[in-house]
Amino acid sequence: MKDAAGGDELLRRLRRFHSDYFPRHQQRFQDLVAEGQHPKTLFIGCSDSRLVPYLLTDAAPGELFIVRNVGAFVPPYDGSHGLHGTTAAIEFAVLSLQVETIVVCGHSHCGAIRAAYEGVADEAVALKAWLELAREALLPVRESPEALRRTEQRAVVLQLERLMAYPMVRRRVEQGVLSLHGWHYVIEDGEVHVFDAEQGDFIAASVASNSGTGPYLNYVEHDGQVICD
Ligand SMILES: [Zn+2]
Repeated sequence: MKDAAGGDELLRRLRRFHSDYFPRHQQRFQDLVAEGQHPKTLFIGCSDSRLVPYLLTDAAPGELFIVRNVGAFVPPYDGSHGLHGTTAAIEFAVLSLQVETIVVCGHSHCGAIRAAYEGVADEAVALKAWLELAREALLPVRESPEALRRTEQRAVVLQLERLMAYPMVRRRVEQGVLSLHGWHYVIEDGEVHVFDAEQGDFIAASVASNSGTGPYLNYVEHDGQVICD
């Protein structure tokens, strides 16, 4: 990454982190090394550069265990879609870190959801297979901004459903020590919409009563269609 003067922009930023940011937060980092990490939240987010988990949640180092991928998808636990790093991260976060919350965060204008409708280059073999993880969320309608928005939200709920098929996740949800939150981040509004299982809809955080409703219920669309059993 070159800066305007043709210099090494990334190297300049690395040096700035070390000289400016680190000295002001040195104690926190050293405590995190001495005591180990104890994040309470597993954040599964889309890789999109506009989605910045630490900004959205005002989190500090050590607070979020993050796994990101194209679309914020959760592969099935049974391995029927192959072995995936995301699955390994979920197992580790739940079994070893014993996180209390899992957030699945999709967002507006998601390229993964658009690509799930439009297809990808033949050369992108892994990406094509990966996008299958959104297939059940796709709508049998013509692509439109509204359809894409609804699909982005349906995809989040679909991933929550897949999470519930992870035995260690289901067990801890049923024990009441783990809750699953589905979020849809609207980039242009600077607002996260939180999935409310009882209302079967995403509620803007500014008016929502909580950051996620915890144990899942079936997701009912406005037209009464239940997409996940
Ligand atoms: Zn995305």
